[in-house]
Amino acid sequence: MSWSFPIGRLTGIQIRVHLTFLIFLAWVGLSDGLALGWRQALAGVALLCMVFACVLLHELGHAWAARHFGIRTPDITLLPIGGLARLERIPERPIEEVVVALAGPAVSAVLALAFGALSHFHLTSIDQPTGGWEGMLSNLFTINTSLLAFNLLPAFPLDGGRVFRALLAMRFNYGLATRIAAGSGQVLAVLLGAAGFLAPAPMLVFIAAFLFLGAGSEASQVAIREASRGLRVKDAMITAFTLLPSEARLADAADLLMHSSQHTFPIADDLGRYLALLSRNGLITGLHAAGPMGPALSYARIDLPTVTPGHLFSTACALMREFETTAVPVLDSSGHLVGLFTEENVGAMLLMDGATKGKPRSVSPGGNP
Ligand SMILES: [Zn+2]
Repeated sequence: MSWSFPIGRLTGIQIRVHLTFLIFLAWVGLSDGLALGWRQALAGVALLCMVFACVLLHELGHAWAARHFGIRTPDITLLPIGGLARLERIPERPIEEVVVALAGPAVSAVLALAFGALSHFHLTSIDQPTGGWEGMLSNLFTINTSLLAFNLLPAFPLDGGRVFRALLAMRFNYGLATRIAAGSGQVLAVLLGAAGFLAPAPMLVFIAAFLFLGAGSEASQVAIREASRGLRVKDAMITAFTLLPSEARLADAADLLMHSSQHTFPIADDLGRYLALLSRNGLITGLHAAGPMGPALSYARIDLPTVTPGHLFSTACALMREFETTAVPVLDSSGHLVGLFTEENVGAMLLMDGATKGKPRSVSPGGNP
């Protein structure tokens, strides 16, 4: 995701800002400045920055609670419509999910109380209003209260929806609990979107779309996890692939792309040891930048994690999401590349699961035939 960039680290978590957030900030500053004067505009931008600091603290609340259960949070991204803490995995035990989901709103509640108390103190101790700044504390109180109330709506993937899912999961199986919670989240998203259109409030429509897509994407992640329960990487990996030598040119990969079904190109050294993985996107980027004679290795990813054939299918899926890649290399115990685990494998597994639902599944012990 090149649309967001890091602005620093807090307790080991990378904090990222999405480009659209900066555009939003500039737009608010400029339109306020032209309409209300630059002093008011500065106050508006300062308020927005304070709001996002509150959103960041809310997300850190989730991240710190997750850490308590041994779940890492690689990064938190700030978007114009709020924050997004990317947890390495979703806590599976319902009680853990409740604690992690409520930790964010708990932070917002503390902030609302603090700003409420401060604005009360401020109003009673200072009689002189100070232009656009005087309402800052009471605005922050209102905004944190709204943030708290909105996040507690029982609509997945909002915090309240996660609590709802966890409560359902205490009674039903996890997949069914997620489908119910995601369904109710999407119904609420449609209602919010309709309200946004009628108002009209474009921001509400944005938030509704974000919720709708978020609910769908998490429901499909859980579907993958449920369908692949017990499966190993070796049960669904590509074992027929062409290795590129370290001195290969982008043209060699382009040739493979055109004449084979391979979309991901592993690169190995002279001894056949895995070095890096060139994706289709990497290949296209490279062709644009360096042309067909450009070195393939320069546009391949060397930061990708590797898995072994014995790793759980769901672990490999989680790694693909975390590293935003369409494939991960599969190495044997001696470090040799024995397969590629790709998103096509995940799609195929889901298709097979759908086709054989209710029938006993045979998992080949020896790997991919
Ligand atoms: Zn939250």
